[in-house]
Formats: sequence, structure tokens, C-alpha cells
Amino acid sequence: MRDVIEWPVTPASHLDTALVSGQALTRDFQVGTQTVQALQGVSVQVRPGDRIALLGTSGSGKSTLLHLLGALDTPTSGTLSWPALGAAETLRPGKVSFVFQAQSLLPPLSALENVAMPLILDGQDTPSALREAQDWLERLDLGALAAQLPEELSGGQAQRVAVARALVTRPRLILADEPTGQLDSVTAQHLMDVLLSVMVPGAALVLATHDPAVAARLDDVWHLQGGAVSQITRSDRGTV
Ligand code: ADP
Ligand code: MG
Repeated sequence: MRDVIEWPVTPASHLDTALVSGQALTRDFQVGTQTVQALQGVSVQVRPGDRIALLGTSGSGKSTLLHLLGALDTPTSGTLSWPALGAAETLRPGKVSFVFQAQSLLPPLSALENVAMPLILDGQDTPSALREAQDWLERLDLGALAAQLPEELSGGQAQRVAVARALVTRPRLILADEPTGQLDSVTAQHLMDVLLSVMVPGAALVLATHDPAVAARLDDVWHLQGGAVSQITRSDRGTV
């Protein structure tokens, strides 16, 4: 009789562990004598597999919230932790990646070198980092552009390179700050196709946008207004 092989099963409690959890987050900025309250008590939980859009007009606090979730900034008050990922200083590069709006590629480096950079910063040897970077460029239909400098790429191509760079470390949490903000609507939807198709199952995406058509591509939409979440809707199931 053959042995019954039991695959290791990840306990449900582990799958439920939040990647990032924030309670009553506020962030004040001092501008001269004035205090700008960019976030006014936002509580968030991002879990494996979540696809969340932060939808709001300019100045509603989207970037501020993303920066807190990725430990690029610290809250003025409230608590923030990464239960499934560890301490803030261990998150980048590797477990948490950012995609920014535009012009975030390092200008003197080729597309290939830009994509390899997070792996090299993470301690991987350069030849294998470059090989993995080339694989990612090919997956995103950018293989032929590996040697190009950022200034030689179109806006859509540059953003796809930025997506490859964000995904090359196989992060658990991807934070995208208006990644389609500089793209026309067709190119924007193509970037969303690419981003969603290469997401590793179990990774989570939080994407800030002011474009409802982009937000509609994700599962949950958090409406930000004046530094607070005014409403949460589920793209396919109506308001929750
Ligand atoms: P969004 O990304 O939705 O456009 P932000 O998070 O960038 O909004 O900004 C929210 C508010 O905080 C705005 O009023 C903005 O002017 C202010 N703000 C953001 N960053 C800073 C900063 N570094 N210094 C001063 N004010 C800031
Ligand atoms: Mg912003």
C-alpha cells in the first residue's frame, strides 16, 4: 500500500494574519504655523489576497496612507504593525514593494538594471539578479527593451518596468500610488491587466487612484475624503 502523502497545510490562522494592521491612524504635517491633518483616524487591515483601491480626489490622503502602510513614514498617532511580515525595518526591499506614479526608475540604469536593483539590494549576486530581472521583463512583454534607458521608454512601458521592479522580489504586499496617473485610459487599463495577471496568489495589492474605472478593477474600494475613509464598497457586490 502506498504511503498517504499529506501536504503541509498552512493553518487558517496564518492565512488570516494581517499583512498590515493600522488603528486610528492620524498624520499631521506642519506647514509654517498651520497644521494639515492629512489623515484623521483611519483604521485598516490588509490581508493576503486583498485587492484594495484607495479612491479619492487629490489631497484626500491616499499617498499619506500608502506611505504609512509601507513604513516610508510614521503616523502622528495610532498604531501600525505588520503581523505577518515582521518589524518595519525588515519590510523593504523584499516583503513590501511600491509602484509610484511616474519617473521612479533610476535614469542612468537600463530597464534590466532597474528591475534587478531590489534583488541586488537584498543581497542576491548580480548575475542571478540580472537573470531573474530578464525573466520578469519577458513576462511583461518587455524583453526587447532590457537595455533601454528609462528616457527611451514610453510612459506605459516605463510603468510596466516599474511593475516588474516591484514584483521581482515576490513581495507579500504591493503598494501602488496612482501607477496609471500619467497614462491615457487604454494604456492605464493595459497596465492594470498586466499588474493583476502577474500578482502572486496570496499577495495583496493596495492601489491609490482618483480614477473610478481603475478602482473598479479591484475587489474593494475604500473611498477617502478629507483624510478619512468615508465609505467602503465592494466592486462586485455593491456597498458593504
Ligand atoms: P493624495 O495622495 O490623496 O493626493 P496626500 O496624502 O498627498 O493626498 O495629501 C493629503 C494632504 O496632506 C494634502 O492636504 C497635502 O497637501 C498634505 N500633505 C501631504 N504630504 C505633505 C507634506 N510632506 N507636507 C505638508 N503637507 C503634506
Ligand atoms: Mg497622492
